[in-house]
Amino acid sequence: MKIYNSLTKSKQEFHPIQEGKVGMYVCGPTVYNYIHIGNARPMIVFDTVRRYLEHKGYEVNYVSNFTDVDDKIIKKANEEGVEPSVISERFIEECRKDMKGLNVKEATHHPKATEEIDGMIAMISDLVEKGYAYEVDGTVYYRVEHFQDYGKLSHKNLEDMQSGHRDILVTGESQKEDPMDFVLWKPKKEGEPAWDSPWGEGRPGWHIECSVMSRKYVGDTLDIHAGGEDLIFPHHENEIAQSEAANGVPFSNYWMHNAFLNIDNKKMSKSAGNFFTVREIGEKFPLQVLRFFMLSVHYRSPLNFSDTLVQSAKNGLERILTAVEHAQEIVEGLPKSDTRKADEEVSYQKLQELIKKYEDAMEDDFNTADAIAAIFEMVKLSNITVTKESSYAYAKEMLDTIVGLCDVLGIITKKQEEILDSDIEALIEQRQQARKNKDFAKADAIRDELLERGIVLKDTREGVKWSRA
Ligand code: AMP
Ligand code: ZN
Repeated sequence: MKIYNSLTKSKQEFHPIQEGKVGMYVCGPTVYNYIHIGNARPMIVFDTVRRYLEHKGYEVNYVSNFTDVDDKIIKKANEEGVEPSVISERFIEECRKDMKGLNVKEATHHPKATEEIDGMIAMISDLVEKGYAYEVDGTVYYRVEHFQDYGKLSHKNLEDMQSGHRDILVTGESQKEDPMDFVLWKPKKEGEPAWDSPWGEGRPGWHIECSVMSRKYVGDTLDIHAGGEDLIFPHHENEIAQSEAANGVPFSNYWMHNAFLNIDNKKMSKSAGNFFTVREIGEKFPLQVLRFFMLSVHYRSPLNFSDTLVQSAKNGLERILTAVEHAQEIVEGLPKSDTRKADEEVSYQKLQELIKKYEDAMEDDFNTADAIAAIFEMVKLSNITVTKESSYAYAKEMLDTIVGLCDVLGIITKKQEEILDSDIEALIEQRQQARKNKDFAKADAIRDELLERGIVLKDTREGVKWSRA
């Protein structure tokens, strides 16, 4: 399996640190509003990477954070006259609903920055002790000059960057030792959330959050770190500086970045009036269409969004769904048998070639565009060769292959049977029992199974409550 690594600017064979396991961290959204369709791109793309790794048999520890302390959240809270946590909790809930609609799997861990402040203070203190950070009047800065490798991800040269900013120091506008130094901790301002720290009350900078949460939930070295390409500089460059200085080992072996989504070939922006939330698009199209549309282009190519293009993705997806429905009806009507007919061998071989075509595409830096092209060819083959005269063995294999390979992309092709209330309650009971037995893997698997069927569980003081999403 080859992954394009932004760090080396080349496709590299993927070797995880621990055989059979992958630790992956994806920078999550800042929760001050509904997520927009640009934010949905990394969610869908990296969820697909995870699904493919799982399909290959890896156990994936997938961690994605919510940034729930930020200027934009505070601004919105002040406008509404509520606590910032009211805003962030509201939009975390809304974001989870959108992710569910996009069939993005629940992360193994979904840490929130505000719940990890102690870890951030510990890492900042460590950086100060090691000489990588310094305090001025309650603000702690990272001393970029001290980190030899600064610029290695964004392929920028520190001296060039410094010379572009020298004037700030000359005019004395900055307290920083160097214009490139960035904030790790900032002092409290009136009306802002704050935590006690060795440098007085304040709150963390954005970059330190990810260094701390990824270390806690994945480890000192990640297999894969991912996010949108706008995060390469400064966010990810700064994460490397913090984590490698603190931990003394490489921060991430592979760095994956998705290209941007544009609207009608223009940058999406609120002021230009071409800005859409996932919720808005969900009113016009099933969200699964949005997912399919996003995967129809390779993740490192810019993606242009327009109603016409989404409509054509919708038509394409319907072609697949109709073929699956048709094959399913046929399979249900056939007498069960494990042997194919002699005249099915050629088509069967063709199906194997198409499976290989799909796998080769995904092995080549997750080329979902080519993988989808292979699925379309399978659909065509299925429409022609799966008939009432087919053997059960052949028809069922065709059906299961298309359904399974779509599932790896997070595309649901089979109609779900409505799950009964009594079944839900029985599963919740089994989950409680598993938790009592400390079998958390089983408890999580039951929760995930219910979530996949649109049932959301909430652990409350009065017990487990459930709702249909
Ligand atoms: P933010 O909440 O702005 O930190 O963004 C969350 C994630 O969405 C990051 O990985 C961004 O890189 C990504 N992102 C934001 N806008 C776009 C866009 N227009 N296209 C693709 N990814 C985006
Ligand atoms: Zn991050």
